[in-house]
Amino acid sequence: MIDDVRALTRSFSRDEAYPAANVAKLVEARVLAAPFAPSLGGAGIALREAVEIIEAIAEACPGTALLATMPLGLAGGLASAPELAPPAHREATLAQLEAIAAEYRAGKIYAACNSEKGAGGSLAATRTIARRAAAGGFALTGEKILGSFGSHADVFFSTAKPTADELPGCGVVEFFLVPTRAGGVDILDDWNGFGMRGTESHTVRYQSAQPATPLGFPGFIETARPLEYWFCLFAAIPLGCALSMLRTLGSPAPASPALRLRLAEAQMRYEAARAYLLDSASRSRPGGDAAYRARVLRTKTFVSQEATRICADLFALGGGRHYVRGGRLSGAMADVFAGTALRPPLPLALDALVEAFSVSDW
Ligand SMILES: Cc1cc2nc3c(=O)[nH]c(=O)nc-3n(C[C@H](O)[C@H](O)[C@H](O)COP(=O)(O)OP(=O)(O)OC[C@H]3O[C@@H](n4cnc5c(N)ncnc54)[C@H](O)[C@@H]3O)c2cc1C
Repeated sequence: MIDDVRALTRSFSRDEAYPAANVAKLVEARVLAAPFAPSLGGAGIALREAVEIIEAIAEACPGTALLATMPLGLAGGLASAPELAPPAHREATLAQLEAIAAEYRAGKIYAACNSEKGAGGSLAATRTIARRAAAGGFALTGEKILGSFGSHADVFFSTAKPTADELPGCGVVEFFLVPTRAGGVDILDDWNGFGMRGTESHTVRYQSAQPATPLGFPGFIETARPLEYWFCLFAAIPLGCALSMLRTLGSPAPASPALRLRLAEAQMRYEAARAYLLDSASRSRPGGDAAYRARVLRTKTFVSQEATRICADLFALGGGRHYVRGGRLSGAMADVFAGTALRPPLPLALDALVEAFSVSDW
């Protein structure tokens, strides 16, 4: 699939509008469904290939890559849910997986709508609540920020806090599926990103939004540990920005020996960061243990930070020709900073690294 995606991205547009045509091409080529099994319309790809796909998309259009991570990561996290589900929930989990995969085949967009103002990317600090609705299912109440796709999404998957008596076996937070056109869902039009302009990452207000359906099985997030899948995909976005800058400045190879040296240095740093990310991605297992999760935290932190630094170094070499609004280099320069802001945001990641530092299980 990675070769098909590379070919597809050659026709991608890259401007500040929502990239409807790019997304449609990805849907049509079933890229967003690729982690599902072939019997469900996917290609059964592993995380490593999903990372390569996001990087390739990011090189062509970082905003499209950011958008793609959300449904692609959901497919990746869900694909193994039935095998991780407790026996009592296995059948229902499989039925839900099949239904969601059918929706992907029909072109529906599942988008992440989890972040909250002041939570700093911490799931535990989620304030949105899920309560049983009289009409059946659950109703969500709370405010989300940075919900990429905005009104272009069909279904949001949103973290919310249920109660153990209403959802026995639940974790502190669970994912809930909310149709974006359901009652009680208000998608604002307030995105004014520094970069990533086309992602339409708006605020979303839930006021007893229903029907909301729990995703997977009770305890899904703590058992299946799907977040690490997204973290690896998020790291691939700034990496694609760095690659885009390297290619822009390096082809044709500049005549200046000093510039060639700087580009060669950036190329080595890029290759090292990419190798680290691909290695961590290839170690991915459903329900990853603490050692794997710590590795992913280090990887996401290192790769997003290093890619941002590479981009800053390259931009400084770009000269006046590239010092223009809307240019490829300046665009990648603004877009790359989304990498350190994406979950887990850099300050939170650094706090976690310091707190959990250990080389004993390494
Ligand atoms: C372009 C872009 C697109 C995005 N798209 C999506 C999306 O589609 N869906 C989605 O759900 N999210 C999305 N996000 C959000 C992103 O993934 C992060 O989760 C979110 O940005 C982190 O929160 P923050 O930056 O608002 O942190 P801030 O609230 O600004 O906090 C910054 C730092 O303060 C500290 N902090 C503050 N409050 C707490 C707390 N309560 N506990 C612990 N530490 C705290 C932490 O160190 C934290 O890193 C997007 C972000 C960007 C930049």
